[in-house]
Amino acid sequence: MDFDLVALPAFRDNYIWLLAAGSVAAVIDPGDAAPVRLALKERQLKLAAVLITHHHPDHMGGAAALAQEHGCAVYGPAHERIVAVDRPLSEGAELQLPGLKARFRVLDIPGHTAGHIAYQGHGIIFCGDTLFSAGCGRLFEGTAAQMSASLAKLAALPDETAVCCGHEYTLANLKFAREVEPDNREVREYTDECALRRERGEPTLPSRLGRERRVNPFLRCGEAGVQDAARRRLGRKPADAVEVFAAIREWKDGFS
Ligand SMILES: [Zn+2]
Repeated sequence: MDFDLVALPAFRDNYIWLLAAGSVAAVIDPGDAAPVRLALKERQLKLAAVLITHHHPDHMGGAAALAQEHGCAVYGPAHERIVAVDRPLSEGAELQLPGLKARFRVLDIPGHTAGHIAYQGHGIIFCGDTLFSAGCGRLFEGTAAQMSASLAKLAALPDETAVCCGHEYTLANLKFAREVEPDNREVREYTDECALRRERGEPTLPSRLGRERRVNPFLRCGEAGVQDAARRRLGRKPADAVEVFAAIREWKDGFS
């Protein structure tokens, strides 16, 4: 990778992603401007672009101030109302980040919010609150069918893709993944690995997509173990993979 990729912690468990090449940077989902200002100053970087995945305040709250301070563009979802966005994007759009020599492709991934988008390029996916490590976002504005399709779109990316999502939820997600698939050995191994990272104060992210396909129950709705868990929840055989997903998502909503 020709870039530095840094997860800046914000609020309680958010990450703002900083992508830098040379002295130029872009940030993804700056819910708060303060940690971004600090990182830019420490690293002596100039901000060239702000990218937003969806309209929740913890993902875009700092965008307007940063854009004003740095005179840079704000890219974001075309189908959501975000005042700071001056470059609306949807599926298939390509953006070239000035000064970074970076190119990203936009994917529509509705479910968590109605117009949620992801940015994919250079072996990285910035997926906001849609795919988390070992989990997925809640369905605030979309249906289970939409979220299922969005996750399938992300799951089709190459194994090595670095998954850069919006929150440090990995350990809590893995606790749930163990309930769904108690016999999945890789879930246990990944839990140990992530616990160690958190003890050291390091992020568990980015994770790799290949691993997500092996440990994330929401990407495994076609697997017998996950289907069995859904069947036990529903008290009958789920009709299809979307119903498996819906049952697991609803179970997770009430799980702590
Ligand atoms: Zn959100």
